[in-house]
Amino acid sequence: SFQFIKNLRSRKNRKRNWQDTLCVCPPSEGDSGGGITAPEFLMNKIIIAIDGHSSCGKSTVAKALARALNYTYIDTGAMYRAITLYFLQQKIDYKNHEAVAHALKQIHLSFIKSDSDDMPQIHLNGMNVEDLVRSLEVAGHVSAVAAIPDVRKFAVKQQQEMGKEKGVVMDGRDIGTTVFPDAELKIYMTASPEVRADRRYKELLAANKPATLKDVYNNLMERDEQDSTRSVSPLRKSIDAIEVDTSHITREQQLSFILNLAEERIKKI
Ligand code: C5P
Repeated sequence: SFQFIKNLRSRKNRKRNWQDTLCVCPPSEGDSGGGITAPEFLMNKIIIAIDGHSSCGKSTVAKALARALNYTYIDTGAMYRAITLYFLQQKIDYKNHEAVAHALKQIHLSFIKSDSDDMPQIHLNGMNVEDLVRSLEVAGHVSAVAAIPDVRKFAVKQQQEMGKEKGVVMDGRDIGTTVFPDAELKIYMTASPEVRADRRYKELLAANKPATLKDVYNNLMERDEQDSTRSVSPLRKSIDAIEVDTSHITREQQLSFILNLAEERIKKI
């Protein structure tokens, strides 16, 4: 069955649906070979919660897992970023409770699959803002916005709705603690601040976004501090989460470690 997952991972064509998945199944034991059967354990869907500090590789591994398992990837940070973008664009004074409550009523968030990498991208009121939400300006305000109780209520409700059919990989800060405390697999990712800043800096450069390593580092430290000390759903490791330090392991090693855990959990249910 692990081979099966490897087959899925190595498939070039990433646009899969369940029918495609069925086609690549090896015959199960006792199968004469003529019929096509899905490995039974893969019919079981679980929720995979990936939490941790900014820029420790959560989204990269979460996307790879979603591809391998044919699950839906949900980037909850993008939701807080899109809300922040709206507040900035509309010049909403987000310290004002009523202004926030009113503004949230005007916000519609959705995830729509992109053609380029087959992963859902964040849309704000129908517009693709996947790129816009990654600016340092948004990053400078997002933790303050994400600490507002009404904002969290708004986002968490939608996240719970998106995951209710299971078969999701969700990354964020409070997925294993607040959004899905009963998630079948919880991962808590960490990496040293230097490694994280360097990764985010390179990402920004590659995307042609002006930044200095120092600004990126300072922003990460500020967000870590704000995210871990806020009163509503602070970032913390759920007691049943498995910690993965990504400072010195490759993406492939991260993926294969977590994929093995996921396979174990899927088989158990
Ligand atoms: O994951 P990302 O760095 O894009 O998240 C941006 C910000 O959104 C985080 O720094 C945090 O303040 C907030 N966030 C959150 N809860 C989540 C996901 C993100 O508070 N589940």
